[in-house]
Amino acid sequence: MSDTRHTKVLIIGSGPAGYTAAVYASRAMLAPILVQGIEPGGQLTTTTEVENWPGDTEVQGPDLMVRMQDHAKAMGCEVIGDIITELDTDARPFKAKGDSGTVYTADAVILATGARAKWLGLPSEEKFKGFGVSACATCDGFFYRGQEIVVIGGGNTAVEEALFLTNFASKVTLVHRRDTLRAEKILQDRLFKHPKIETLWHHTLEEVVGVDAPKGVEGIRAKHVETGEITEIPAKGVFVAIGHAPATELVTNKLELHNGGYVKVKAGTTETSIPGIFAAGDLTDHVYRQAVTSAGMGCMAALDAERFLAAQD
Ligand code: FAD
Ligand code: NAP
Repeated sequence: MSDTRHTKVLIIGSGPAGYTAAVYASRAMLAPILVQGIEPGGQLTTTTEVENWPGDTEVQGPDLMVRMQDHAKAMGCEVIGDIITELDTDARPFKAKGDSGTVYTADAVILATGARAKWLGLPSEEKFKGFGVSACATCDGFFYRGQEIVVIGGGNTAVEEALFLTNFASKVTLVHRRDTLRAEKILQDRLFKHPKIETLWHHTLEEVVGVDAPKGVEGIRAKHVETGEITEIPAKGVFVAIGHAPATELVTNKLELHNGGYVKVKAGTTETSIPGIFAAGDLTDHVYRQAVTSAGMGCMAALDAERFLAAQD
C-alpha cells in the first residue's frame, strides 16, 4: 500500500526557487513539504564559483545550495529526497505521485522544477554521451587532465565551462555558431585572455568522432555555417553548453505554456493557468534565468500561495 502525505503547500524542486519558497512558506506557518527531485540543489550544483549571489563575493555553487537547504529545514520545511512522476491537476487537493511510492496531496503546489541542459540531437552526440560527451564540466572535467577539449556554445555556461576546463585540459577550443558571444563581458574578457583557449567562430558541431573499443571520443568535425567547410579538431572531451530547456514534463497539456515551453504566469505574479498552482524560477523565465531571480520568484510563489490558501479558508 502506498504512503499518503498531505500538506498545505507542496514545493516541487530544490533549486534557488524551491528553497526560497520553502523558507517563506515555512515562516508563514504553512508547514510545506519540498520534494528535491533528481538533482538536489538544482543547476548551481553543476558549477563552481558563483560571483553574483548578493552577499557573497564568491561562493561555490554546491555550497550555496547546501546552505539554502539548511535554511529551509531550519525554518521548518520538510525536505524529501523523492522525484514527482505525475501531478494530477484536476484533483482537489492536488495529487502528486512520488517515485518512492508516496502520494503527496496538497492544497497548493509550487512548481520550481527549473531547467535541464539542451542537447544538439546528433546521433554521434547520443552515441558518446557519458563516453567523452558531457553537458557538465564540473561533473566530468576531471577526466580530461592533460587532454584537448571542445566546448560548444556561446553563452555564460559555455564560457564558464571553457574557463573551468582549463584547470585540466592542455587546450580548450570554444566552437560557436556566430562571431559574438552571448556571455557577460567580464567572462568574455577572461576567455579571450586565456592562453589555453582558442575560439572557432561560425561553426557548428557536425559530428563527434570516436572509437568503439574502448568507447571514447577522438575529436569533432565542425562545419562552417556559411561555406559548409569542415574543420577537424582532435579532442578527448566534448562539452555541449547550448542552453537549458524548462522542465515542464509534469504539466505539459495541463498548464498554459509559452515562449517555447515555459510555464505561463499572470504578469507580476506566479499564478499559473490553474488556481492553486504557482510556478517560480527557470521553469517560467525565458529572459533572466539567474539564481537570484529564481529565488525572488520562489519568494513570490510562497506569498501568492499563502494568499490563495487564506482566501480558500
Ligand atoms: P533549478 O536550479 O534548475 O532546479 C530545479 C530543481 O527541480 C532541481 O532540484 C530538480 O531536482 C528539481 N526537479 C525537476 N523535476 C522534478 C520532479 N519531477 N520532481 C521533483 N523535483 C524535480 N545563475 C546565477 O545567478 N549565477 C551563476 O553563476 C550561475 N551559474 C550557472 C552555471 C551553470 C553551469 C548553469 C547550468 C546555470 C547557472 N546559473 C547561474 C543559472 C542558475 O543556476 C539558474 O537560474 C537557477 O538554478 C534556477 O533555479 P530554479 O530553482 O528555477 O531551478
Ligand atoms: P544561453 O544564454 O541560452 O546560451 C546558449 C548558447 O548556445 C548561445 O550562444 C547559442 O547561440 C548557443 N546555441 C543554442 N542552440 C545551439 C545549437 N543548436 N547549435 C549551436 N549553438 C547553439 O544558455 P546558457 O549559457 O546555458 O545560460 C542560460 C542562463 O543561465 C542565462 O540566462 C545565463 O545568464 C544563466 N547563467 C548565468 C551564469 C552567470 O551568471 N555567471 C552562468 C551560467 C548561466 P546564439 O548565441 O547564436 O544564440
